[in-house]
Formats: sequence, structure tokens, C-alpha cells
Amino acid sequence: MSALPGAPHLARAGAELQLDGRALAALAREFGTPLFVYSQAAMLEALAAYQWALQGRRHLVCYAMKANSSLAVLQSFASAGCGFDIVSGGELARVLAAGGDASRVVFSGVGKTAAEMRQALLAGVRCFNVESTAELDTLNAVALALDRPAPVSLRVNPDVDAGTHPYISTGLKGNKFGIAHAQAVAAYRHAASLPGLRVVGIDCHIGSQITQIAPYLDALDRLLDLVEQVEAAGVPIHHVDVGGGLGITYSDEAPPAADELVAQLLQRLDARGHGHRELLFEPGRSLVGNAGVLLTEVLVLKPGADDGSGGKNFCIVDAAMNDLVRPAMYEAWMQIEPCTLRASPPSTWDVVGPVCESGDWLGRDRALAVQPGDVLAILSAGAYGMTMSSNYNTRPRAAEVMLVQGRPQLIRERETVASLFAGERLLGRA
Ligand SMILES: *Cc1c(COP(=O)(O)O)cnc(C)c1O
Repeated sequence: MSALPGAPHLARAGAELQLDGRALAALAREFGTPLFVYSQAAMLEALAAYQWALQGRRHLVCYAMKANSSLAVLQSFASAGCGFDIVSGGELARVLAAGGDASRVVFSGVGKTAAEMRQALLAGVRCFNVESTAELDTLNAVALALDRPAPVSLRVNPDVDAGTHPYISTGLKGNKFGIAHAQAVAAYRHAASLPGLRVVGIDCHIGSQITQIAPYLDALDRLLDLVEQVEAAGVPIHHVDVGGGLGITYSDEAPPAADELVAQLLQRLDARGHGHRELLFEPGRSLVGNAGVLLTEVLVLKPGADDGSGGKNFCIVDAAMNDLVRPAMYEAWMQIEPCTLRASPPSTWDVVGPVCESGDWLGRDRALAVQPGDVLAILSAGAYGMTMSSNYNTRPRAAEVMLVQGRPQLIRERETVASLFAGERLLGRA
């Protein structure tokens, strides 16, 4: 039997699939389905791998909270000393509501509004990751109006060689993100000339689900080249932020461990004489992805292949693309496991949701022994699951449970249908 992504927190005990020793089928019965279940311990261990490797160095790990922004998740990370990478004013409000510290927040994103800039400046964020010269000018105006200098780091597009690293999606020329490497020195000069801004760092973010170390080393080298040029031009740079993007195991990917990635980056930093600099990371998926599962109940079976009608076998479940969009949106493969194994031989099923779209599938051609009423677990659903969910087809969003020292706590109630249209109005009479 294949390994379980999410192990050792996820394990089989006899027929039962368990997370932190809790039978998932029992949690589905207690809290209903669809249900996200997270292991707090797995999240904190993933964070600790970065923090441990960075011990003794000036550093800050900023969790890229768009991966999973539920308040209890943020609270867990904040109490472990973690900072946050945000991409909106809404995410900043979540950090503060969860007890996070604005001074450990970096504000990323290619299109910040002036209102969001004001909100973040007043809250006292650690820095703005600025993506264009136009944004420098807007931020400068906002900062001058509030009489508060804005700390800035420029997000540089390192243009890491596509031929060598075709899996990189955001660090290439022709991408909407970041300031082109060739324009970076001029952009720093411009930033330093603006009275409302204070240059504090440099950053990049080269892509997502990266499974090798080499592109990070290439990107770091490109950043350090710039740091040297910018400082030679008289603009000091304090921190270097290498972004996020470390991959996780969905099926057979073998990404490096976070501590191995950190160790090699530190080695490169030292080798180039930049060991004194503060190092920032913005991991998202690698902190939460394998710490969560989505539980769903089998509603009905439509055996189109096994009944001789020449179709496919469909296993229709109560979770859908609105709960977990990665398969529909990216054709992402996510492992699907029965929560309680059956002794009967498996058939091949397409696991699909009830939404009225042919793209509404969670897994194709999966060997499963299932019956209606069974509970399935979709693994590695802790990242980009709940945060990308929607109410399409007027489907209330799932509930969320966190296992804290093995004990389940409801951290988000299941939405009610009434709440979905509470803000809507019928037309008045003309
Ligand atoms: C999405 C994002 C991250 C996190 O990416 P992961 O692949 O989830 O680690 C980090 N930094 C920025 C700027 C991002 O947009």
C-alpha cells in the first residue's frame, strides 16, 4: 500500500484512517460532512523545521496565509512566534483578530489599494513588498499624508532560467509579478529618493509546489547580485526575503525538507559574505498542506462501466469543486482514501461532486471499494482548500475541525443557507 502523504500524523490503525490518533470516520459522524480536519501538531512541526534550521540567525518566517487563513490556524502559528505574509487588507484584519502581531507582517501583492496601504501603515506592518515603481509613488503619497514612513522591500523578478527550471511559474520575465531584474537598481534609487519611504529589504517569490533546491539557490544568487549593486549605489538593504513555494507530497513528489532548503540557502548566503543579513521566508503550502484532509460522504454510485453500459463508474460524494477547487482548477491530483477500509475488491471510480459542471471532479480513475454512506478522505487538503472554496450552487461552505493535542475542536461552523443570502435584497415596488 502506498505511503500516506501527511504521515506520520496520518496513519491506518486496522481498517480505520486516523489523524493524530483520531478515527476520521468518527469525526465525520460527529461533525458532519463535508468537513476539513487539521492536525495542529503537523502544522507546528512544519513551522518548526524552518525555525529550527534558522536558529542562531536573524530571521522571520512569515506564513503565507492565503494557503489557509482560518483564525485558529493563524492563532496557532502566531503563538509559535511566526509572522505572516498577507496579500490584502482583509488578511491583515484576520491576523489581528487571531492575536497576531502587525510588526511581524509583510504585505505582498501586485495590486494594493491606497486604503489597504493606509490600513497597513496604521497597524504598523513590518514592510510592504512593493511590485512596481507606480506602487512606490502611491505608497509614498499615502505615507506622507499620514506622516508615517513606509518600510519597503522591492519584489524583484529574478528571471530564473526557464530552461533549467521549467516548473517555476512566477519568477520569469513576462510574468505579472515583481520588478524586472534589469530595472531593480533604478527602482531602488527611486525608492530611496522618496521622502515617505524607508528601504529595508529585497524579496522574490519564484513559484509554487517547487520540489528542488536549485531554483532557490539561483534566485538567491540573483538577489545578492542586486543587493551588492544597490548598496554600491548608496542604498543599504537590511533583509533578504526568499519567498515561499516549497512543495509538498501529493502523490510521489519528493520535495526537499524545509530544514535542508534553509541550510543550503544559509550556506550560500555565508559563502557570498552576506551571512549577517536577516533572512525571511514566506512559506504557505509547506506549512499546512499535508496537515489537513477533507472528509466527504459517498451519496450515490453510478456504475456505468461495471454494468456493461460502456460508460464510466461515478462515485458521487457530498463535497464538490466549491469545497476543493484544486482538481477542477489545476487538474491537481489529490490522494483519496476510504476512512474505513472494506474487505471487498475495489472498482475504478471517478469521484465527483454534485455541482452542475463537468469539471466538478475530485479524483479520476481511482481504485476504491466503496458503498453509499462511506466516508472518504481527500488528503493534503490543508492548503488552498478552504481559502479557495465558494458558494457556487448555493452550497454552504464546509465546517472545520482542528485536532489540538489529539482533541477535536470546531474552529469554523458549517455555513447556513440563510447566511448565504442574508445580504441580498428583493426589488422594491416601482
Ligand atoms: C502564494 C505566495 C506565497 C506562498 O506560496 P506557497 O507555494 O504556498 O508556499 C509566498 N509569497 C507570495 C508573495 C505569494 O504570493
